Amino acid sequence: MNFDLAKEHELVRDTVRSFATDKVAPVADELDREERFPYEIVAELAELGLMGMTIPEKYGGAGTDTLSYAIAIEELTRIDSSVAITVAAHHSLGALPIFYFGNEQQKREWLPDLASGKKLAAFGLTEPGAGSDAGATRTRAESHDGEWVVNGSKIFITNAGTDITACVTITALTGDGEISNIIVPNGTPGYEISKPMHKLGWKASDTRELSFKDCAVPRENLLGPRGNGYRQFLEILDGGRISVAAMGVGLAQGAYDLAYRYAQERQQFGKPIAKFQGIQFRLADMATEIEAGRGLLYKAAWLKDQGRDFALAAAQAKLYTGELSNRVVNWAQIGEGTNEVQRMVIARHLGL
Ligand SMILES: Cc1cc2nc3c(=O)[nH]c(=O)nc-3n(C[C@H](O)[C@H](O)[C@H](O)COP(=O)(O)OP(=O)(O)OC[C@H]3O[C@@H](n4cnc5c(N)ncnc54)[C@H](O)[C@@H]3O)c2cc1C
Repeated sequence: MNFDLAKEHELVRDTVRSFATDKVAPVADELDREERFPYEIVAELAELGLMGMTIPEKYGGAGTDTLSYAIAIEELTRIDSSVAITVAAHHSLGALPIFYFGNEQQKREWLPDLASGKKLAAFGLTEPGAGSDAGATRTRAESHDGEWVVNGSKIFITNAGTDITACVTITALTGDGEISNIIVPNGTPGYEISKPMHKLGWKASDTRELSFKDCAVPRENLLGPRGNGYRQFLEILDGGRISVAAMGVGLAQGAYDLAYRYAQERQQFGKPIAKFQGIQFRLADMATEIEAGRGLLYKAAWLKDQGRDFALAAAQAKLYTGELSNRVVNWAQIGEGTNEVQRMVIARHLGL
């Protein structure tokens, strides 16, 4: 076994780390407070080739492996989750379905702009009544005179309504119990996009409700064979889990970095709080759990790159790192003092 990153992975990590630190960190607070979509940053990410990383160069992408992509998302999230989800949702949910399931004509029509980051794409699966039970989709697409006529709605769709969004791929019933994926270009009559949804986090990312009222798109916009939509979205979600796991690792690492630095600076009882064993144990736990999460993430990405079954590893990575990021952020936030001081007080009361 070899646990070292290859030179190209180190290069991705260093490049994205510098970009996130130099270009994203100075504006992250402002973007979050103003709930403003980071157009300028997306344009620079596009320049760096980070908007379509795993898509082959012939379609305008960078042709990297999945591990490079996971590292890039991890590094972006370390500084700003809104920017990271914008890239991850565009790449894994917006562009990849067209790359995986599109025919050559669809790939040539959509991918060059998407993979190069000139345009964004979204994936519309979730509906008000179909969340975890994504197969319960009610949106319908009926075939009429060479067109699909779509009626229904979607909710929580990332990147659907930016000024540079080209399209959304939606799941729709094309027959009883038959789900298909259909590309709906932005601007199609009958396709309406809500104002951005207000959120507690990821505030600078674009999240919308969509509605379709007799929205007609060409029959050729069907992605892959009719009725394959369910199988297709399961495959898309498997891959998407790797990027969301990368966000879990990156968020935890970012919180750890801040807590680590703060523990060196903050003086209490005449010394930096990092000198207290209680704080050291906490930072040691954080570092260990982050390393474990990164191991799960990299393994899932590596399996995908080997062309092997990665579904289990991706779900394990997403589960662990999602909970990990919550734990680490909580530990980093509690201000280091409160809970540790409570433990000291309790220990004193117990006569220890
Ligand atoms: C910021 C944001 C961006 C998003 N972007 C996109 C996007 O781009 N495209 C898209 O299609 N969707 C998107 N989503 C939707 C997201 O994928 C769904 O929120 C998610 O699938 C959960 O669905 P739900 O919110 O309807 O929750 P529900 O399915 O209603 O679940 C509510 C709770 O019930 C639990 N639950 C449900 N079923 C079971 C069960 N069988 N057993 C035990 N517990 C259960 C869940 O775990 C959860 O705790 C986004 C969501 C958010 C918040």
